[in-house]
Amino acid sequence: MTNSPDTYAVFGHPVGHSKSPYIHGRFAEQTRQNLIYSARDVPPENFRDNAESFFAAGGKGLNCTVPLKELAWRYAERLTPRARLAGAVNTLAIQADGGILGDNTDGIGLVTDLTDNQQIRLPGSRILILGAGGAARGILGPLLDSRPQQIVIANRSLDKAAAIAADFAKTGEVASIAYPALAGRQFDLIINATSASLSGQLPPLPDKLLAAQGCCYDLAYASQPTAFVEWGRKHLAAKSLDGLGMLVEQAAEAFLLWRGVRPQTAGLIGELNRARQ
Ligand code: NDP
Repeated sequence: MTNSPDTYAVFGHPVGHSKSPYIHGRFAEQTRQNLIYSARDVPPENFRDNAESFFAAGGKGLNCTVPLKELAWRYAERLTPRARLAGAVNTLAIQADGGILGDNTDGIGLVTDLTDNQQIRLPGSRILILGAGGAARGILGPLLDSRPQQIVIANRSLDKAAAIAADFAKTGEVASIAYPALAGRQFDLIINATSASLSGQLPPLPDKLLAAQGCCYDLAYASQPTAFVEWGRKHLAAKSLDGLGMLVEQAAEAFLLWRGVRPQTAGLIGELNRARQ
């Protein structure tokens, strides 16, 4: 007799665009894990009820995407240190005693894509993060762990960037800046953590912001190059990438938390990249 599969899901609103069911399905095949992973559209006001009934029905783990990550953070009964610092949870897991653990795998997913897949050197580098929302908060801890020279956060609403910089002040060298004050500054890596790309927009960036041989990375991903990826190409970035690799790597970290095995990612990233050419 075969055992029934363990159940996992991604909750988001909207969630129809999510590649997570495909990614986790491929990971399960590759690692021979018996599981089912589906996507469920859950508006914020229904998040807690849906999460509770999912786990009560035997569900093993959830991914939470926009706009549910802060609700998931509040819902979790325990937090990993990186999730506590991030103030946002993208992965929930039921533990042996029935408690719900919240983790944030976005930042480690980004750093793995930058360093292992793209060979971008972070120690000693000057990093600029555009945007001060949940994603910026999620990536800061793992980026600081990679020992950059400094991290500067630019945001339209400067108070939000200043609040994040203050929260992370004990962890490393982080400053906030208004967009107009970027004139005359240079960075080795510019990470777009705004949601501007989702509407084809670009934050107001001065020319010469990117140092020679510098790289650009947009957390957003799309079938076509995003406005920020195009900006990076126009400004002669050594690499100008979008967040597809991060998406696969953060999923691999969630899979590791749930199943105790980390799937290989390179083949799947290559396949997803080829599918959009
Ligand atoms: P939030 O809504 O929390 O934050 C959005 C941020 O974008 C705010 O700082 C906002 O500034 C800024 N912003 C929005 N529009 C503009 C604009 N036109 N010009 C300048 N700034 C703008 O979103 P998240 O932090 O959750 O997500 C950000 C991005 O990261 C999204 O594109 C998301 O898809 C992507 N992401 C990708 C992941 C991956 O695996 N690849 C994982 C997680 C996120 P203000 O505060 O001034 O309004």
